[in-house]
Amino acid sequence: MSVDNALAVDVVIVGGGVAGLWTLARLRQSGIQAVLLESDALGAGQTRYAQGIIHGGTKYALTGKLTASSEAVATMPALWRECHEGVGEIDLSAAIKLSDAHYLWSTSNLSSRISGFFASKVMRARTRSLDKTARPTLFAHPEFKGQIYQLDEPVFDTLSVVRALAEPHRQAILDVAADTVQCQNNTLRLADKSGQEFQLNFKKLVLMAGQGNQALLRQLKMQEPAMQLRPLKMVMLRGGLSDTAYAHCLGASVNPRVTITSHRDEQNNIVWYLGGQLAEDGVHRDDAEQLLAAKTELSELIPWLQLEHSEWGILNINRAEVRKPDGSRPDTFFVAEHNNVLTAWPTKMALAPLLAARVVDMISGAISATDNTVLPEWQQPEYADFPWCEADRWSRS
Ligand SMILES: Cc1cc2nc3c(=O)[nH]c(=O)nc-3n(C[C@H](O)[C@H](O)[C@H](O)COP(=O)(O)OP(=O)(O)OC[C@H]3O[C@@H](n4cnc5c(N)ncnc54)[C@H](O)[C@@H]3O)c2cc1C
Repeated sequence: MSVDNALAVDVVIVGGGVAGLWTLARLRQSGIQAVLLESDALGAGQTRYAQGIIHGGTKYALTGKLTASSEAVATMPALWRECHEGVGEIDLSAAIKLSDAHYLWSTSNLSSRISGFFASKVMRARTRSLDKTARPTLFAHPEFKGQIYQLDEPVFDTLSVVRALAEPHRQAILDVAADTVQCQNNTLRLADKSGQEFQLNFKKLVLMAGQGNQALLRQLKMQEPAMQLRPLKMVMLRGGLSDTAYAHCLGASVNPRVTITSHRDEQNNIVWYLGGQLAEDGVHRDDAEQLLAAKTELSELIPWLQLEHSEWGILNINRAEVRKPDGSRPDTFFVAEHNNVLTAWPTKMALAPLLAARVVDMISGAISATDNTVLPEWQQPEYADFPWCEADRWSRS
């Protein structure tokens, strides 16, 4: 390996999803020489599949579990909004906010249940009941008989967030050929996808590769922390949709029966993306059964929709998180350090800023920053595309 391509940096981050990119930006803002390695495209992991909802803790409040972590998440909508307005810790003014709020609706037979939830003080502070004139167009339909509430939860186009985070730091992001990475002590040897080889001497290594963290930990011969995967079977549809929708339907359990967000495909058609309990339960169904379940849910919950000419797609995707003994969702983000290696999962995209702040605290207190590393010309990764922009994901039935 040519010594010309050896350089000293403070931090190497592995993984160019929302967590790695937010952390890269915060570290570099703090004067720490950080670089990021991505082996696919930026946003290519869970980030491009996310619904983009910046949760404010309503879901936690619905479960009655109002903990410190749900208080922390309550500040996330405001933090993301400030960033989007260009006055926050990161400039996300180039990102696209799809909706300023998310909504919660109940069908008529669940009205009493929903009222019970909203009787609590905590829910009243985070939600607003909407009268008929203020409802989103979809729910202004005469057949809609339920109740609808506005939640303080903006929804972002996730890949526009990825771009806004990455663009100012493009030169610090390397398109690495994954199977070339070798780590020994505090040195990484690797090649970019053009075959050019590099040696990076680092002080801290940060693993933020989502599902890829497991293989990286194995390569580093680390047993801990353990990872869990929680699969989802998401559904998307287009055609026959005239309104966008950003809403959870509250069902009999504390998990939303279905969560809908709206996106645009390459021809600018409205795409509805369905998650919630439908996607959780869907992992026990094959694709045809899941499609039927989605159609049944929509015809029951929004009977005025005309979906005869719609196209559909099923997306199987795992959430990657730190392992919990009972396999449930961790309450908040996770980061732990072992021998200069930090391993992290944000748990939610919304929590990426909190995770990044924690990593900056852990690192800036532990190292003195290197001055003026000149980064070489290396190959930079492309940006991922949304699954709904990929033609082969769609079918008519
Ligand atoms: C269907 C779905 C819907 C969701 N909706 C929401 C939501 O509405 N709101 C919310 O807050 N959260 C949501 N989430 C959770 C959110 O998507 C994740 O918490 C977040 O995107 C994780 O980001 P990440 O950067 O940790 O991981 P990822 O986005 O998975 O990024 C990891 C990156 O690492 C790269 N990588 C992997 N291995 C290597 C390697 N060896 N070398 C280099 N690079 C590597 C991958 O290519 C990828 O780009 C959702 C998740 C899913 C699955």
